[in-house]
Amino acid sequence: MKTYLRLLGFAKPIEKYAIPYFFFILFHAIFNTVVFVMLMPILDTLFNSSGIIETVTRPPVFEFSMDYVNKLVNYWLYQLYGAEYDLMSILMLLSALIVASVLLSNMFRYLAQRTIEGFRIHTLKKLRNNVFNNVMHLHTGFFSNEKKGDIISKITSDVQVVQFCITNTLQVAFREPFLIAGYVFALLKISPELTLFTIVVLPVSALVIGFIVKTLRKSAKEAQESFGDMVSLIDEALGGIKILKGYNAIDYIVKKFYGENDRYSRISKHMANRQQMASPASEFMGITAVAILLIYGGGMVMGGKIQASEFITYLAIFSQVTRPARQLADSFSTINQGIAAGERVLSLVDTKSEIIDKENALILDGFTNDIEFKEVSFAYENKGVLHNISFIINKGGTVALVGPSGGGKSTISDLIPRFYDVSEGEILIDGVNIKDYNIESVRSHMGIVSQDTVLFNDTIENNIRLGNTIATSTQVMNAAKIANAHEFILNTEHGYQTNIGDRGTKLSGGQRQRISIARAILKNPDILILDEATSALDTESEKLVQDALNNLLNGRTSLVITHRLSTILHADKIIVIEDGKIVESGTHNELIALEGVYKKLIDMQNIGKQN
Ligand code: ADP
Repeated sequence: MKTYLRLLGFAKPIEKYAIPYFFFILFHAIFNTVVFVMLMPILDTLFNSSGIIETVTRPPVFEFSMDYVNKLVNYWLYQLYGAEYDLMSILMLLSALIVASVLLSNMFRYLAQRTIEGFRIHTLKKLRNNVFNNVMHLHTGFFSNEKKGDIISKITSDVQVVQFCITNTLQVAFREPFLIAGYVFALLKISPELTLFTIVVLPVSALVIGFIVKTLRKSAKEAQESFGDMVSLIDEALGGIKILKGYNAIDYIVKKFYGENDRYSRISKHMANRQQMASPASEFMGITAVAILLIYGGGMVMGGKIQASEFITYLAIFSQVTRPARQLADSFSTINQGIAAGERVLSLVDTKSEIIDKENALILDGFTNDIEFKEVSFAYENKGVLHNISFIINKGGTVALVGPSGGGKSTISDLIPRFYDVSEGEILIDGVNIKDYNIESVRSHMGIVSQDTVLFNDTIENNIRLGNTIATSTQVMNAAKIANAHEFILNTEHGYQTNIGDRGTKLSGGQRQRISIARAILKNPDILILDEATSALDTESEKLVQDALNNLLNGRTSLVITHRLSTILHADKIIVIEDGKIVESGTHNELIALEGVYKKLIDMQNIGKQN
């Protein structure tokens, strides 16, 4: 219930929808009941064609009773036709009234439906925005723990399930009780005795349905989790399509998908079977009740306790009561599914970022002196990756990190923009712990170019603008020129306005890399982090990219990670990282003289001989 209310809470201000809805549905219920109540005078007219209809010459005094309705109708007839009227005109009039009531009743239903649809769509829009926004603000570590597919399926499919269940239950919970109330009221007025029956029968079917619903809850959760796994698999498969094809592993992934799909389908089927039972079961119970009523009520008619027309009207209304009651039952059978999905979605809303600003966090205005790692250790969950790392990057200087892969170089670079927080020790910018700064202000001074160029499905211009949305087109172009990207951009179909497609797949690796360099140039950061920025490139593009990088690095403070040692020979400091520890550090010449790990690496790459 709490979850349900929270989900509804996304629709603030709720009164905007609730108040009109209330009136629409009230009128719908009233006119709907009137339609059925009108049956009685019609039947009376037909049965009493001998002309025993009582003539009512004065408006009847208002009271809540069938008698009043009868008298009122007869009074109208008197007004219209005088004391003498023929049967046909009466029937026509009554039919016209029925049509009018049905029209009004349906019109109000439509209005109510519109309101609730507006409510539903508004709620879900807010919910989706909220979840996506929260997820995007979560700390980087969250994304390696939680599976991507799981997040995607929560934002899409689970929200869809919530949507379905919210409308369903809302509509039903707020419409059907009104209808039931209207019907039961009319029933009571016709015959309290018969109505006792109704009141006994309805809860019995509710109990049956309740039992079915209980068993649905578990399956709903399982189904949604399994769906998440399936989305993950699709995501992996699409992302790795080349590798899969290259290794002739399509069969492997297809089989895996079949397996996941099979599991999901099995759970869904199990659930659907249960769910579908709710409706037939309650219908059966409803009709059984009508049959019992027929016997009991028929007896009453024969005994003269109730008129035939009343009894038929009664049956007609009674058969209607079972419908909303059934709908109520049906919708409760899906509510658990909605709540399970809602809980999953809300879990994303409730997850708090582990890396947040301190209260009164300082704003890093300008970067003036240095960045210092002071005895920094770091672990991913329980896995210690960095141990006691200390070094300083001076303003304007370049520090290069080299060493075998898996040593922890990327991890070190991730700590500076606070993608992760250190486990022990501290990182200081201009002597202040970075945890004391506002995160955005720290990141605003940084530019990152990594091996994976991240481009979005948008124009080239907008991709370059990512870190500086207010830049003019000329500034974008200048940045592209410095990044050696201008020429090839002009050669694309629409120049800077070319859409580069999903993840920039229409461009070559070198071109993508130069766009990301242009992006960094446009942002004009004080501090640059280059993580294997050229390693995915061929020699040809590497030269262009390296030139672009040199332009970018010019005069900036930088941390460069690379295994192409030729690019960092002139770094102010080279740090060799192995197994999360600093094993050597110094300038190129100092490290060569040391004849240690670095010297070996240099020898392996034959660099000494070229220089
Ligand atoms: P390098 O950049 O030197 O190749 P990394 O910093 O990428 O090294 O990785 C250092 C170690 O941390 C590796 O053992 C790697 O498996 C581990 N690692 C990297 N990222 C994560 C992560 N998100 N979660 C858990 N372990 C990680």
